Amino acid sequence: MANILVYALHYEGAINKNSLGAVSEAARLAGELGGEAHAIVVGQADDALAGSLGEYGAKKVYRADAPEGLAQPVVDAMAKVIQDGDYSYALFGGGLLGFEIGAGLAARLGAGVAMEVTAVRAEGGELIAERPILGDSAISEIKYRSDVGIIIGRLNAFEARAGGSGAAPVEDVAVELSPHAQQATMVTRGEQRGADVDIEGADILVAGGRGLGKAEGFQLAEELAGAFGGNSAVAATRAVVDAGWYPYAAQIGQTGKTVAPKLYLAAGISGAIQHKVGMQASENIVAINKDANAPIFEFSDLGVVGDLNKILPKLTEAIKAKKGG
Ligand SMILES: Cc1cc2nc3c(=O)[nH]c(=O)nc-3n(C[C@H](O)[C@H](O)[C@H](O)COP(=O)(O)OP(=O)(O)OC[C@H]3O[C@@H](n4cnc5c(N)ncnc54)[C@H](O)[C@@H]3O)c2cc1C
Repeated sequence: MANILVYALHYEGAINKNSLGAVSEAARLAGELGGEAHAIVVGQADDALAGSLGEYGAKKVYRADAPEGLAQPVVDAMAKVIQDGDYSYALFGGGLLGFEIGAGLAARLGAGVAMEVTAVRAEGGELIAERPILGDSAISEIKYRSDVGIIIGRLNAFEARAGGSGAAPVEDVAVELSPHAQQATMVTRGEQRGADVDIEGADILVAGGRGLGKAEGFQLAEELAGAFGGNSAVAATRAVVDAGWYPYAAQIGQTGKTVAPKLYLAAGISGAIQHKVGMQASENIVAINKDANAPIFEFSDLGVVGDLNKILPKLTEAIKAKKGG
């Protein structure tokens, strides 16, 4: 039977949104394959939290007594459940921890792995994963030859869909941690800079793209958002999030958040279709780009052709002066 096992990350009494998306997607796919989606949680998850994954389609939830938030203990736990059970696939919702666990699990089981997967479909009784390649300009399709196939989604690739058949049964599983899985301990756990900002609820968004040049370039965007004050925040394109310049929580677009602020100010953003779908409903779109042919000007209310390194500080000064005056 083609069962699918999903790792569900939890933090401060809530299941991670990407994990909920992965459970929902696994439930959909398992249904098409004639199998079941099961989830595994690690660490301090009470019955209500673990069982709530049933709402997203998990038919059973394993709970392993091991440290949460570290990759290797989860690899041990998932490898045991997969080896003792009957699983054809393991699915992850993406994020750095998912990448690390998925890669470790692939090495442990000798399994095939596809990362940055944006879509999965069932065909002929097996799963086919789609993964963008060549700078996202083409899509490759991946089938698995191994007994277990590992699918690691791109962040936000799978939509969380509640409405399952209530709480899932929770089964405790005893895991013997391998020596190397006990060599790391969690020192602190928290959110990245900007992760606590409510991008979706902001009235004014200053969005930065690769044109900001480097991570430090975001200071220009933060200063401008600070000058606007009130309900304003900084957002980002996927290109800069992937480069590690800004947190995923601030990503706008197809695989990020969808926003509709009163003002969307795009600095150094080309205006790719995958970005546009996340912000095109904004009331007023202002774009600053040094390339007069940048696609973003096609859907901007106001376009400024020029170097953002000169324009952003002047704009910040002007807004501060206006507010002060
Ligand atoms: C399946 C899939 C999903 C995707 N999901 C998303 C998503 O959710 N969100 C998203 O944003 N993207 C997404 N992408 C990626 C998207 O296709 C683009 O690659 C990305 O949006 C480009 O980001 P960017 O505009 O920051 O960078 P670039 O395209 O490199 O643009 C940088 C811009 O900055 C300008 N610039 C450079 N220097 C300066 C300067 N000094 N002053 C002014 N302007 C300057 C340049 O002229 C250029 O137009 C996705 C792609 C795929 C295939």
